[in-house]
Amino acid sequence: MGDMLKIQKDRVVKLEEWEQRWEENKIGFHKSHVHEMLESNIDKSLSGRTGVRFFFPLCGKAVDMKWLADMGHSVVGVEIAEKAIKQFFMENNLTYNEEPVPAIPGAKVFKNSEKNISLYNCDLYSISSSVVGQFGAIWDRGSFVAINPGDREKYASLIISLMANDCRYLLSTLMYNPEFYDGPPFAVPGEQVHSLFGERCNVEQLVSEDVIEDRHRAWGVDYLIEQLYLITPKIS
Ligand code: SAH
Repeated sequence: MGDMLKIQKDRVVKLEEWEQRWEENKIGFHKSHVHEMLESNIDKSLSGRTGVRFFFPLCGKAVDMKWLADMGHSVVGVEIAEKAIKQFFMENNLTYNEEPVPAIPGAKVFKNSEKNISLYNCDLYSISSSVVGQFGAIWDRGSFVAINPGDREKYASLIISLMANDCRYLLSTLMYNPEFYDGPPFAVPGEQVHSLFGERCNVEQLVSEDVIEDRHRAWGVDYLIEQLYLITPKIS
């Protein structure tokens, strides 16, 4: 596993490259339906609570946001590609207001107030709990696996700083043979999830399943294990 990590550790995808992907519609990661592992583990996420504040770190135009909002939860997402945010609202027939974010130069927030969905158009690392508050739940799919491997520690500390005491963080990661494909998504070994979050949080693996499809086989890989973790703060 240590060696597998090394292969991708210096890979960098720039923000402009992500925006370019959206321009060119190269968004094979987008799912037109609610993510199966979110749907089948929603009880683990909610734990009986209603009106939960959900955070979507790199949100794209995930339909999961609409699904949760329709259930009465509120949603905050962050996404660098304005095109993704506009498509999210349009494709879900939601109107939006666009406002600047005084605390973050250049950032905008797109809001639908009836549904309580606020999507920040900026770099994830420019947000903090002083801007967006803390969250009762986080849905992390296509986010931890999408950030540059060299940024994982920075990412984990940001996420931990956004967790309320009762936060339930569902993290989906992927593992495949990185000799055959250089990402993104980047491969994440389970040991690293434990080493990044284990000191401050309880880490429980809920699911581990081969989810390979033809579009992944085209990358050259022959397995793609998706793992779902439930991460909760250790209350000290
Ligand atoms: N979670 C979504 C999107 C996954 S793809 C889903 O599952 O469909 C990763 C997304 O993160 C892309 O839409 C990309 O534009 C965005 N992104 C990548 N790096 C970012 C960063 N540092 N800040 C904000 N958005 C970023």
